[in-house]
Order: sequence, then C-alpha cells, then structure tokens
Amino acid sequence: MSDSEPDRPTDDHVPDDEFEPVQVFPDAEEMDLRPGADNCYKCSTCDTNCPVAEVDDEFPGPKFQGPEQWRLKRGDDTDIDPSITKCSNCMRCDHACPSEVPLSQMHNTARGEYVEEHLNKRSLEYVRNRILSNYGTMARIGSKVPRLTNFVMGLSVTKWVNDRVLGITSEREFPKFATETFREWWDERGGAAASRERAREARATSGSESESESESENERKSEDKRVAYFHGDYANYNTPEVAKAMVRVFETFGYEVCVPDQRCSGTPMFANGMLDDARRAARFNVDTFRELVDDGYDVICSCTSCSMALRQEYPELFDFEGTETVAANTYDALEYLRIHEDLEAELAGSDVDAPDFAYHTPCHARNQGLDGQTLEVVDAIGGVEAHDVGDSCSGISGTYGWKTEHYETSMAIGEEMFQHMDSADADTGLTECPTCAMQMEHGTGYEIRHPLEVLEAALSTDVSPDQ
Ligand code: SF4
Ligand code: SF4
Repeated sequence: MSDSEPDRPTDDHVPDDEFEPVQVFPDAEEMDLRPGADNCYKCSTCDTNCPVAEVDDEFPGPKFQGPEQWRLKRGDDTDIDPSITKCSNCMRCDHACPSEVPLSQMHNTARGEYVEEHLNKRSLEYVRNRILSNYGTMARIGSKVPRLTNFVMGLSVTKWVNDRVLGITSEREFPKFATETFREWWDERGGAAASRERAREARATSGSESESESESENERKSEDKRVAYFHGDYANYNTPEVAKAMVRVFETFGYEVCVPDQRCSGTPMFANGMLDDARRAARFNVDTFRELVDDGYDVICSCTSCSMALRQEYPELFDFEGTETVAANTYDALEYLRIHEDLEAELAGSDVDAPDFAYHTPCHARNQGLDGQTLEVVDAIGGVEAHDVGDSCSGISGTYGWKTEHYETSMAIGEEMFQHMDSADADTGLTECPTCAMQMEHGTGYEIRHPLEVLEAALSTDVSPDQ
C-alpha cells in the first residue's frame, strides 16, 4: 500500500452495540457474511498484500472493499463503491488475512451487486466485460475457423477497434486458437474407452494389475484410479498440448480419464461481477461432476484458477446440491499426483532434454496452499532446473490486464516478476496458470510451459503427438 492513504469512507458512525441483522447483499441469504466481517480487527495486512493498492494510490484496498464496505452497506443509503471494479480478484488478500475474513467472497458479492445495480447494461463497458467473461463462447465460434480467426485477431485494425471501441488493450497479442481443440483430439483418440485401455496397459506394465488376479480385483483397482478432467476453456481452445499432457501423465500412472461436457469454471465471470453467468456455468459443472464423484471419480484441474473456482468460489457463492461434494473432491493435477503417487521414486533416474525454467507461482495456486509443489516436482527431474521468481503477482489476473484502463496497472504489478525472470538463470518460463503465462510471455518474450508438459517429458510417455 502506498504511504499516502486515499480518503475513504470509514465505519466510525456504526455503533458497535446496535447490530441489526439486515440483509445487505441480496444474493447472500444463505451465505451470511456478517461473522466474517466481524472477524476483521483492522490490522491492514490485507492492504499491504494487495498488488493493486501497491501501485494505484486511488484504490482503497481490500479492507475497505470487504469488511468496511459491508458495514457501510448496513445503512440503506450507501451504494457499493465503484472502486470494487479495480480489484483484480487475485485473492492475495484472502491468503494474507490472519483472521479468516472471507474477503474474496465479499468482493465477489459486492462486485455482482455493483454490476447488477449500477452498471448500464447498454454501456460498452458492460458489453466488453460480458464478452471477456464469456471467453468460451467467443472461443467456440472462433475455433471453428482457427486460422482465419487468428489472422483477423492479429490485424492492426482489429486491435485498434478492440482498443478504441471496446476497451480491450491493443498492447497484447490475442492468444492463438489451436487448429485442433483438445476435445476434438480426445474424441478422435477414442475418448474414455481408449483412456481406460491405456490406463490398464500402464497398470499391467507397472505390475499393479495382472492377469493372475481375479477380474473383480482388477476391476476394484480400476475403480480406484478414475479421474474426471476439468480442462477449462483455455486448455481446450488455445493450449491443447497442456490438456494432452495431463491425460498422458495420468494414464501413465494407471488412471482412467474421462472428459465430461463442461462450461467455464466461472473465474472470469466472478472477476467481472457477472454472477448470473457464473451461476449458470457453476450449476452445469456441479451437476455434471457431482454425478461422476458419486461414481467414484475425483475431479482434476490443470489450471489453478479453475480448481480454486470449484473448491472455494462455488461453495462461497452458491449452494446447489452437490457443490460441497464437488469442492471436496477437486484437486490440482500435480497436487493429486503428489498425494497418491510416489513421484520422487517415479522420477528417479529421469533425464529430460529441456531448458531450465523461471517459475512463477500463480496467486490462485498460493491461495490453495499449492506454492512450492511444482519446484519440488521439477527438482526431482534429472536434467532440468526451475528457479523461483518470487512471490509477486503477475498482474494480469485473467481478464483484468486485458482492459485498456487496467493495462498499465497490470504491467506495473508484473514488473517485479519480469525483473526476477530476467535475472534468473533461465530463459523459458513455467507456470500453471494460462493468463499468468500470457503476462510472463508479454513482459519478457520468453516461451512459457506448463509443469505437466515437463512432467510428461520426464515420464517418457513416448507417444506420437497424435496419441
Ligand atoms: S487482514 Fe483480515 S483482519 Fe486484517 S484488516 Fe484485512 S480483513 Fe481485517
Ligand atoms: S483480490 Fe487482489 S486486487 Fe482485489 S482487493 Fe484482494 S488483493 Fe487486492
């Protein structure tokens, strides 16, 4: 936080002993935020950990956006402060708060209320935010003709129009669509039936399943090793190589993978206050994955923002039947393997022909307690090293850094990471988050890889690119 504190409303006028249990945020009937707000003892740790407040003196910070605004809102005549739209939803404040105040839940709820009640639905800002929030819809159309879309999105005139009319920055290169989506590859490959076959072969090769055992015993082992993959939109449309690596790595360990229909995790929708869109997507995902969890599958994500949405944001904001069940059975891919497999033994003797990496931990990984795990896994791989570039935020926060009005803030936040990448003894980046990867590439020009791709190389899955 900067030294010069901006003027901001205070809650001094709220008498501490006159609490009236009024409904403040209309959508929060089942999720009463008051106990969390009351936990705040104004230590300001959240403010000092907020990357936006660090570079933007006019942003009041998470303490104001969360508990203070909540208290102010108890009066009938106070509206949500527009500064809520400056919060990038990085969730570092959540992680920093020593008192378990549900800051991001408060921010998401307040942002939803602000958009619903104060943002003109015919404004270009609303249209732009809706487009960015629903990236999957745009990507589904664009990826029908990927080469043409890539060509058009790369034209200067397209970037100029996006910037000047919609407020989508022309400073960034639009991510390229793959010529074959992950789901097209998956279907072509034979879907879940092919995965079952490969997983069985892997179990037979490793000796964990054999013909000498009864069919029912082998069936039990197969039931123990079933995962449902939540790939998200970006891995499907833009980086299918990450999703393929995820499938191959899990099959190598004998897991049968299924890839059910799914919608966006909702992360960009939460960040833009599009709670109705997020609710529809979350309901679809919960209905789908709850059935699979009931059938014995665990849910695996290759993007840490997706796993955080399913684990934390869904239960904080929605109460569909099965929400808690899905949350309790969702894992990040590396986290899951570290729990269930002896990765160190598996990787002993591996020798990968790969560059050294400058590794960035996404804020949303940190928020799930996953910081450190990738470095440990890569450390166990022979022939490759990953250098930690510190605990700063990349600054892009999904759609945030794509908005013209936030671009400079996004890059100012990312500066520390760029400098650390530059001084690390590596010129390839590594991270789990696709938008952090965009920012890393944008700020340094490095190629960026996903840890699952490195793990795939280390396990020598030895398959042709089509398989
Ligand atoms: S860190 Fe938690 S307790 Fe401290 S001011 Fe922020 S919300 Fe309040
Ligand atoms: S989510 Fe990130 S940007 Fe928003 S208030 Fe918290 S720390 Fe600041």
